[in-house]
Amino acid sequence: MKLLSATVLVSIILIALAGIVLAAGPGARKSGITMTNDQATVGVFSASGFDLTPLSETRINELAEKLDPEEARVILRSGTEPAFCGTLLDNKKDGRYLCRLCDLPLFDSNAKFTSGTGWPSFFQPADPKHIRSIEDTSFGMKRVEILCARCGGHLGHVFEDGPEPTGLRYCLNSASLEFFERDAQAPEGATPDRKTEAAYFAGGCFWGVEDRFAQVEGVLDAESGYMGGTTESPKYSAVCMGVTGHAETVKIVFDPSVVSYEQLLTRFFQFHNPTQLNRQGPDFGSQYRSAIFPVNDAQREIAERFIESQSKRERFRDRPVVTTVESPGQTFWRAEEKHQDYHAKHGGSCAIPELPGG
Ligand SMILES: [Zn+2]
Repeated sequence: MKLLSATVLVSIILIALAGIVLAAGPGARKSGITMTNDQATVGVFSASGFDLTPLSETRINELAEKLDPEEARVILRSGTEPAFCGTLLDNKKDGRYLCRLCDLPLFDSNAKFTSGTGWPSFFQPADPKHIRSIEDTSFGMKRVEILCARCGGHLGHVFEDGPEPTGLRYCLNSASLEFFERDAQAPEGATPDRKTEAAYFAGGCFWGVEDRFAQVEGVLDAESGYMGGTTESPKYSAVCMGVTGHAETVKIVFDPSVVSYEQLLTRFFQFHNPTQLNRQGPDFGSQYRSAIFPVNDAQREIAERFIESQSKRERFRDRPVVTTVESPGQTFWRAEEKHQDYHAKHGGSCAIPELPGG
């Protein structure tokens, strides 16, 4: 019976994937929803440090033993619970929503909103890679089904009628989720497999800086955004005019046991020219300034020591380093989706800058 459930689950995923292939073509992809129908997740870690290698059928069967019949119907057989009946619909407590089957953190209470639909609704996942999206053409409709990226359990659907900042509505079954208050002891499956830290660097056009850091071993995630300005939720159209004070900045999530913050600083100085003031190559303006945004005083001290030691080098004697170390703990505003993974999606890459001293 349990084996049958997992077999059914795998079949559902395969059928849904086949549906994507058949439906591929103009209009098959919704503009605001990032489809993640690729299966290349073996050994891939999310930005929050979770190993997203798909669980084996044996492991899914073990986990499924704890499910009651209604949970099994929803999670393993893509069921939908009746509207206004789920236990988490009106939950307003502060905390995290985990996958009911494998405990992977899926949503945070700070992204929950009242949609009026009768199902728990969120405008964004806790970690984008923790949700897999596939085309669902059942019942004569074209919808986007969402699954747990680790166990493949059915969660619900995502629609393009949600609130800002994403405009998306992740429509969940309460049966697919398990809620843990912020300070509660979380189960083992909700503990990251790798320890991660964040670093923020501004070094000109964020497309190129993001692309280069994404290829550094030990970097789990790199994303483009804005830091160091005076307005909240800045948009590219304002930042590129140089009126908000923001710098195009890349957030890097890294495993410090593989690559250190000092090593990232060294790469940062290889990936851009730290001697150009308010400019990087052909891009002019304070939004292209060279800056380091430490997350805390420990990073600030390391960054200041690094710049001090670099400044003493012969190569920077005639053209001094202008990179600034900004005050710690500033807010990172993620840039619009079209700016993420730009070179990975569109090819090409910014040229490596010519540095003083060769
Ligand atoms: Zn799961």
